[in-house]
Amino acid sequence: MSQHQPVLLANVHRPDSEKISTYLRYGGYASLRKALKMPPETIIAQVKASGLKGRGGAGFPTGTKWDFMPKDAPVKYLAVNTDEGEPGTFKDRLIVERDPHSILEGVIISAYAIGAHRAFVYIRGEFFLGVKRWIKAISDAYQHGYLGRNILGSGFDLDVSVHRGAGAYICGEETAMIESLEGKRGVPRAKPPYPAQSGLWGKPTLVQNVETLANIPHIILRGAKWHSGIGTKESKGVKIFCVSGHVNRPGNFELPLGTRLKDIIYEHAGGVRMGRSVKAIIPGGASTPIISADRISTPMAFETLKAAGTALGTGAIIVMDETTDMVEVVRRITRFFVHESCGNCLPCRVGGKHMLEHLEKLAAGTGTARDIEDLEYIAQGIYGRTFCPMGTGMAEPILSGLRLFRDEFEGKVKSN
Ligand code: SF4
Repeated sequence: MSQHQPVLLANVHRPDSEKISTYLRYGGYASLRKALKMPPETIIAQVKASGLKGRGGAGFPTGTKWDFMPKDAPVKYLAVNTDEGEPGTFKDRLIVERDPHSILEGVIISAYAIGAHRAFVYIRGEFFLGVKRWIKAISDAYQHGYLGRNILGSGFDLDVSVHRGAGAYICGEETAMIESLEGKRGVPRAKPPYPAQSGLWGKPTLVQNVETLANIPHIILRGAKWHSGIGTKESKGVKIFCVSGHVNRPGNFELPLGTRLKDIIYEHAGGVRMGRSVKAIIPGGASTPIISADRISTPMAFETLKAAGTALGTGAIIVMDETTDMVEVVRRITRFFVHESCGNCLPCRVGGKHMLEHLEKLAAGTGTARDIEDLEYIAQGIYGRTFCPMGTGMAEPILSGLRLFRDEFEGKVKSN
């Protein structure tokens, strides 16, 4: 069993962990005090040197993203992405509900570093408790002088407010989230310009995921070297892995990046239910390619998962045992993405529906070999050719499912 002592989840099981008094009792906001005495460019340099990469799915280097923010722009914004909608992912919700001040401290330090005086929290509409916890945390932070004018006598001002989404998966995509925050329908924008150049109301905007922000206070307090000393060559720090599916003990497990998939499943998540064996795994949320059990020794890191033909994504590990019907798995995932397509571009809007029709026929036992061919043809056509990454995310489970479990698809073809 790993000897790792939780960092991001250190507080979440403490009584009243969401309260500011608890957070302060365990050293909360000490990092902010330290950060406010540092020049902003030193904070950015520290975050760059730490090797932190975004934890929302894309894995872009955080310090580099901060560096993209123009230094001389008079108005800049920070947008906090709490829209966590990737199936299998439930880590951000845990931090928001149980330790919101750890994110807020990261928000304040990040805003100070990039020179933003206004931050917007965008939260998934269904996170009712999370909304309450965010609002309470922000209100308490104002009362304690961590938000508002002249924070802790530093001369730095920051206001933060909370905005609820309406349950659209696509609003987790940063530009769709910006559209939604502006009060418009949540559809992705063309990039470039990137949000760092032109984001909310045309102003430079840094969009950052909750787990990413929760790392910031620890990096500032313990130093970039501490962070870069954890993990692998290209994947630094700790990660919250959300394990679900056919395991005995599903849940969130914070471990160093590079921990083997096998160890997460068997040591931390209690192994596979009823002593069965693993058949397939989705390692990074539903939009990442499925891998088969022979990849179970893969370290959970950006580079190793890429080499294994999949991606770290959000770190949401969905485990499927030997009894799993893979055609049904692919059908259900596709149904989700088809429902969530924003409809802005044709390959995703129309292609998705056609793929689902083929999958439904196959799952019902009424499909033919032509349905498999057409399904693959459409998925290949969508892959990499949509306006935003969701179309490719929709094609990934289909293409990987066909590559690894084609015999199961063929076995569903009606015999006459
Ligand atoms: Fe919308 Fe196109 Fe993105 Fe699908 S791929 S969610 S239709 S923009």
